Amino acid sequence: MPTFEEARRLILDHVTALEPERLPLVEAVGRVLVDDVIAPCDLPRWDNSAMDGYALRAADAAGGRPLRVSGYVPAGSQAAERVAAGTAAKILTGAPLPAGADAVAPVEETEEREGAVVVTAPVRPGAHVRRRGEDVREGETVLRRGAVIGPPEIALLAAFSLVSVPVVRRARVAILSTGDELVAPGEPLAPGLIHDTNGVALAAAIRQLGAEPVSLGIARDDRASLRALLAVGLEADALVTTAGVSMGDRDLVREVLGELAVRQVFWKVDIKPGRPTAFAVLGEKPVFSLPGNPVSTLLTFDQFVRPALLRMMGHLHVLRPLLPAVLEEDVARKPGRVGFVRVRLVRGPDGLRARSSGNQETGILKTMVQADGVAIIPADRGALRKGEVVEVQVLRPEAAG
Ligand code: AMP
Ligand code: MG
Repeated sequence: MPTFEEARRLILDHVTALEPERLPLVEAVGRVLVDDVIAPCDLPRWDNSAMDGYALRAADAAGGRPLRVSGYVPAGSQAAERVAAGTAAKILTGAPLPAGADAVAPVEETEEREGAVVVTAPVRPGAHVRRRGEDVREGETVLRRGAVIGPPEIALLAAFSLVSVPVVRRARVAILSTGDELVAPGEPLAPGLIHDTNGVALAAAIRQLGAEPVSLGIARDDRASLRALLAVGLEADALVTTAGVSMGDRDLVREVLGELAVRQVFWKVDIKPGRPTAFAVLGEKPVFSLPGNPVSTLLTFDQFVRPALLRMMGHLHVLRPLLPAVLEEDVARKPGRVGFVRVRLVRGPDGLRARSSGNQETGILKTMVQADGVAIIPADRGALRKGEVVEVQVLRPEAAG
């Protein structure tokens, strides 16, 4: 049975990035850039004014000498004439600096009357001028492959007049809930039946990652039903199933996957909760069989499926960062397996403070809802004491802010 780290390593070793596609800029938000971007031009493209004011020769402005206002350069235009000695051109922010001028005096530091302007504060050469290329130089590598496209990247690409960008395509991820007791949410229940909550939770988790969930519905705990739906699921880029992977005599998921030529990489990981997690591949296609208990499903998705899908979509950083947090209370625990403890987080004077969000049984969804993060407890650790430092993955950064 692999350890937590080994299982994650095995999964990441088996997945590779999907193909690129070209998308309009705004559609590309959240996607990963496929190629480096080399600046095709300087930015800004020309010297321009950083202020509303007067473009002039700095040396002329000294001593409160009146300068004749010889022109007007609003944004979107270009000066018709040079700024000659003893003159100034009225200019608005962003307008190209007229030839002859070497500085801009902000309007707040000037007085204009009768066609002449007096500058009331010293002006240095270059003052309030944005120089051509001061942001980006032509030929500079401004974005690296692997960059996640966000609003600043989109702004930069647009400044180069680009309207589309090559990014890794998103993964289509099939989701299959399994179990004779399951009924779709919204459908009536009969005695002994429960709603399929894992299917929708996984669809949401997949969508949150920027991937595309493909819901296959519910398979019954019999070979024919499983085989039919698993076969459809294997047409997606990845397949995630829940339940039917423990030791029960109806736990047939792994067996039927095997009949469909899916090769098991591991079954069971040395973690609590989530031990019966299985990982398999069909060629390059990853297949995750997650345990059915709703909290185990969510936690194992986050630890194992999330990094794999991010890697498939080209992300370089796929693991959640671990942050230290001081425990505010004792947490009972037996040593043996790496433990995931749902915690509430608050920011204290010297960093994060964590306390259990409550009952840690895997059927208790409420304490998952109330968790801001998950503490990852090393396998050899027994009971945890108030005041000790644990490592947490923050799930709700705003709550821990
Ligand atoms: P199993 O792994 O099939 O033994 O299921 C473990 C537990 O998870 C059982 O209590 C199931 O009823 C429950 N469970 C399985 N699948 C789902 C699901 N899709 N939604 C909610 N609970 C589930
Ligand atoms: Mg079952």
